[in-house]
Amino acid sequence: YPEAPPTLRFLVEASQAHGERTFLVYENERVTFNAHWRAVSHFAHVLKSEFNVQKGDRVAIIMRNYPQWPVAFFAALSIGAIATPMNSWWTGEELEYGLQNAGVKVAVVDPQIFERMREHMSGLSDLEAVIIARETEEERNNPRVHNFESFMGEPNSWADLENKGLPEIDLGPDDDATIMYTSGTTGKPKGALATHRAVISNFLNSMTCQARMFLRRGEQPPEPDPNEQRATLLSIPFFHATGSFAVLIPTLLRGDKIVSMYKWDAGKALPIIEAEKISTIGGVPAIAWQVLEHPDRDKYDLSSILAVSYGGAPSAPELVATIKKRFPEAMPGNGWGMTETCATATLNIGEDYVHRPTSAGAPPKAVELKVVSPDGDTLPPGEVGELWCKSPANCKGYWNRPDATAETFKDGWVVTGDLARLDEDGFLFLVDRAKDMLIRGGENIYCIEVENALYDHPAVMDASVVGIPHKVLGEEVGAVVQLKPGKSVTQDELRAHVASQLAAFKVPVEIKFQDEPLPRNANGKILKPALREQFAPRS
Ligand code: ATP
Ligand code: MG
Repeated sequence: YPEAPPTLRFLVEASQAHGERTFLVYENERVTFNAHWRAVSHFAHVLKSEFNVQKGDRVAIIMRNYPQWPVAFFAALSIGAIATPMNSWWTGEELEYGLQNAGVKVAVVDPQIFERMREHMSGLSDLEAVIIARETEEERNNPRVHNFESFMGEPNSWADLENKGLPEIDLGPDDDATIMYTSGTTGKPKGALATHRAVISNFLNSMTCQARMFLRRGEQPPEPDPNEQRATLLSIPFFHATGSFAVLIPTLLRGDKIVSMYKWDAGKALPIIEAEKISTIGGVPAIAWQVLEHPDRDKYDLSSILAVSYGGAPSAPELVATIKKRFPEAMPGNGWGMTETCATATLNIGEDYVHRPTSAGAPPKAVELKVVSPDGDTLPPGEVGELWCKSPANCKGYWNRPDATAETFKDGWVVTGDLARLDEDGFLFLVDRAKDMLIRGGENIYCIEVENALYDHPAVMDASVVGIPHKVLGEEVGAVVQLKPGKSVTQDELRAHVASQLAAFKVPVEIKFQDEPLPRNANGKILKPALREQFAPRS
């Protein structure tokens, strides 16, 4: 292989070291490290020579978790373009917003995305080409539209592509690598711009957190076994910072395997875990729960599971105990991070997590956290304020959003919008989103605290707390709850359970039960606006 740009050397080295191992599995498509490398190298040349993609140009990747996703992502990175993944759940209008916001030159999409974006293309003057992967229609009759397979062929034949190496390019660790869109929980998604150094730092942050857990206990971290190949069941999208920075890149670096699904479905995941000997599951807490509580879980051999790790959303303290009960050998993990910190900034794993089941862990040495008061003072351990994070994995700012950048990026710190406290040992406890707090008659109520009290009831599988508008008090506490299969509890029993743990004013005045899972966005975050609509204002 020719010399690779420094931050992509891992791509070349992993491909050499693990050549014939399987890297990606999607249904009956299996892609080895070698085949993946050849496809990346090939597509990098296609982007450069057929589409004239230059350093700094934005290449969007918008599709489900198909094997073509990482190929387009790494190919864009390796020619110095800014890989710009977008949410494959977005509507046509949202896609237009993203493509416009990032000034995308080439978009690599799947046919469903193309269907949604086609009527919006006339307004996108920067967009020179759309390359559709997994195309089912014969002719699109549009000079801007191209077919991925006509350049690349099918995944199962990528091993036969000619190895062209990577195109010559002057690229350093501080060059721009990716624009990742935030989940849009608190407003319109913002495109967070990260350098190659930041993208790789996520991996180093997680590795350091893992090693430290052992060192703190006076044990040596286990030596990686070069013959062991772990397998992650990908239940979150590649387009989220966690999917690409905390799953895709580490998997490549370690020579592991990713198994992806068309759509997350716990019932369909169980036979895959057995057949592919999956060692890591998780992603977001809801997914871990769905596997742990699935009525069919005992029908399958799940003994290959060695890690259940998640982050991105609040998790109930019972989750880690349940993991320990069902999979005693597995390492549980809860990480905190944001798109703006390129995924994992803190990680709570193993015994540390068992002992602090409500913490998202302590930051690794390279990451600094502080809790800040509304006046801008740094608060001592134990006090709640807004969390600020300084990390080598921090983004530079938001693409094309100077207003939002000035609010969130301050002197190397990311102002997170999360309310949190740190304990004496530096462990992070998230209290709530600054914007996700209810104020009932002047009293602050953190939704998470009430949610945890609900989760603590043995019949509760999932719970979310929202404000119900109230004429006098401003807001009252409402809750929506999904029960575990076969379990039942009345509203009054559940209210009594919460009342046994929390002050009376925090007890939900109204609890709605539903059989179906709570509505979540593609990143596993509960769509609170949709839940709020279920409650009529009170007076
Ligand atoms: P937007 O910024 O567009 O409103 P978002 O903040 O949901 O959306 P992400 O960057 O995907 O977008 O999510 C980061 C947020 O997720 C954090 O700020 C925090 O509120 C939440 N989060 C992440 N990890 C955890 C965790 N372990 N526990 C609780 N909350 C978490
Ligand atoms: Mg955010």
